[in-house]
Amino acid sequence: MRRPLVAGNWKMNGSREMTKALVTGIAADLPSQCGTDVVVCPPYVYLDMCRELVGEGEISVGGQDLDVHEPGAFTGEIAADMLLDVGCRYVIVGHSERRSLYAETDQRVGQKVSAASAKGLIPIVCVGETREEREDGVTAEVVRRQLGVVIETAGINIFPKALVAYEPVWAIGTGLTASESQAQEVHALIRAQLSDASEQAAAGTRVLYGGSVKPDNAAGLFSQPDIDGGLIGGASLKAADFLGIIKAATS
Ligand code: PEP
Repeated sequence: MRRPLVAGNWKMNGSREMTKALVTGIAADLPSQCGTDVVVCPPYVYLDMCRELVGEGEISVGGQDLDVHEPGAFTGEIAADMLLDVGCRYVIVGHSERRSLYAETDQRVGQKVSAASAKGLIPIVCVGETREEREDGVTAEVVRRQLGVVIETAGINIFPKALVAYEPVWAIGTGLTASESQAQEVHALIRAQLSDASEQAAAGTRVLYGGSVKPDNAAGLFSQPDIDGGLIGGASLKAADFLGIIKAATS
């Protein structure tokens, strides 16, 4: 039985005030031992504050990206050691915005996953096809290639500790959500690909869905056999919505 996980990707949103209000709002209404792992991923500059706010409670903190290098002369970058130093357990890697806006290649994503895992951070590895790729009927091929490079570069043994997030690019921030069956179909392919390399990895790895998940569509998506929770963008910025999604994962 895989324990569900719901992670909030705040992207480049927030302020000290908002961080305090959002994190305390989530913590206040999160049932103790809620049965779902809960992660918040604010911008780097609010990680430390977030970590202090969550204390030893149920909420974990994660980065939205990391650099592949050890600390050194890499202006503007953040190393795995630094994320660990401020108390992160998780890190999102290969988000489609990083791939499309910052030219992150499959190879670079693989190296980042490897760097994160080697330091003991839990990577949430994002994969997913664009609208054009779905229309061209190459969704399975694209997702297989993206995950394949990660397995090749970081090794299958990073799973089941590492997570995969299937995020169809056309559903991110658009209000369009993959249907339950569209999402389940790709999640099953991801699990089959893991299974080709390791049965243990396939059985234990949590595969999250991301793309316009809201409290009213979360339960249906999370009821699918290969969907183990969600990576949430917009709806993670409102405590009530994020809590509603966590509740859907838990029930
Ligand atoms: C995301 O950015 O990872 C995401 C899933 O965003 P949204 O929930 O806003 O579509």
